[in-house]
Parts: sequence; C-alpha cells; structure tokens
Amino acid sequence: CGIVGYVGSRLAIDVVVDGLARLEYRGYDSAGIALVNGKLSVQKRAGKLANLRAALAESSLVEATVGIGHTRWATHGAPTDQNAHPHTDCPAQVAVIHNGIIENFAALRAGLAEKGHILASDTDTEVVAHLIEDERATGAGLAEAMRRVCRRLEGAFTLLAVDTAEPDLVVGARRNSPLVVGRGVGENFLGSDVSAFIAHTRRAIELGQDQVVELRAHDVTITDFDGIPVSCREFVVDWDA
Ligand code: GLU
Repeated sequence: CGIVGYVGSRLAIDVVVDGLARLEYRGYDSAGIALVNGKLSVQKRAGKLANLRAALAESSLVEATVGIGHTRWATHGAPTDQNAHPHTDCPAQVAVIHNGIIENFAALRAGLAEKGHILASDTDTEVVAHLIEDERATGAGLAEAMRRVCRRLEGAFTLLAVDTAEPDLVVGARRNSPLVVGRGVGENFLGSDVSAFIAHTRRAIELGQDQVVELRAHDVTITDFDGIPVSCREFVVDWDA
C-alpha cells in the first residue's frame, strides 16, 4: 500500500519510518522495514506503525544508510507478522516490498516449490524474492535480476528490493501501480507517492510503465524491463505537504 526507499548518508531507519508515517493516510494493516549494512535486517509487524516502532526500539538498531519500508493492505494472506512485508529469500540476502497483486503468483509459487524453495508466507509477493534469488544465482546483479523477474510477472506491482551483495543500491520497478523518485543531494528517495519524501526534496521523477530504477546516493538510472535506458524528465512538486 505505502512504499518508501532511501539511499544516502542519513540513518535510513529514520527516513523510512518517517516516510511510512506520511503514507499512513492511505490505510494499512501491517508495516515493515529492511535495512542493509553488511547484513540484512528486517523488522515487520501486523497492526499500526506504533507496533513496528516498538519492535525497532527493542532491537539493536542498525546504523544503515540504505533501507526500504512498506505499509501493507493485505490482498493475499491474512494481516499477520509473517505476511507483512518485506519478504526475503532464504537464507535472507534479498528483501522485497510490493504494492499491488501478482496475478500469476500461484504458477510461479508451484515452480519455485518444485525447485526446492520453501516459502514462509501466504502472500503473492514472496515469490518475487525467491525468483530474484534464482536469477542472482546465475550471476545477475540485483537490477538485472529484477528486470528478468518483472518480465515473468502478471498483474499490478510496485516493487522495491535491496541486496546484501550490493549494499549501496535500492532497485525499484513498476507496472500498473505508481512509483516516484525523489532526487536529493548525495541522497535519493523512492515513494509510492511524493508524500513519502516531500519533507526532504521536491525534485521528483515519475517512473513510466514497465520501468526499473537503480537508486544510489549520487545516481539514478532508469531502464525498461529489457535494460534499455529510458529518458525521464524531472519535475518540481509545488504543493504544500
Ligand atoms: N498483494 C500484496 C499482499 O497482500 C501487497 C498488498 C499491498 O498492496 O499492500 O501482501
């Protein structure tokens, strides 16, 4: 339902949780966050953002500058801690958050089960983490893995992913569901809408249909699902947040 991504020099946990709070107006039933710093740290809780905040306060906080966060409105699988996003592969190297519905998830899930993947949730989303895992195993980087996986997905999705092997990177993708880049100085943002980052920057780029973005602190690269670079135009958000 709500999506936030951050790469920069600030504590990602603060930027991401603040962004999720700004997206609360959309409604949600669970919330979660993934941070990358040497390893992947995932915290997720059913219920209000306060539940996630409490869980984060009890955990040893990770001093990461790269992170993604999600507020979920369940479509597949009950609103439980386990079904909350992010979802990971196993062992956890890649974390994925998703807005929308992956219509062909049952067939993809059956294919993954045949290959020996054990899925931990009842969501349509989790297949994406395992499909990315398989693509990475063939040598693809996270962005190329995301592009290959997106070509196999049907339905509506905004996806963000982080990877312990590429700790300076957040990858995003979209089809039939919105994703906006926020451009900062030495930091960049992703949001399901501009409210996620308007407190930090008003410079934005809307991703087009079937596009993938590679977000780093000093660089934003956008391609189509085949990896062909696409041109994009920056705009300035001129309404008051
Ligand atoms: N279909 C996904 C789920 O049920 C994502 C729902 C959403 O957009 O929040 O977990």
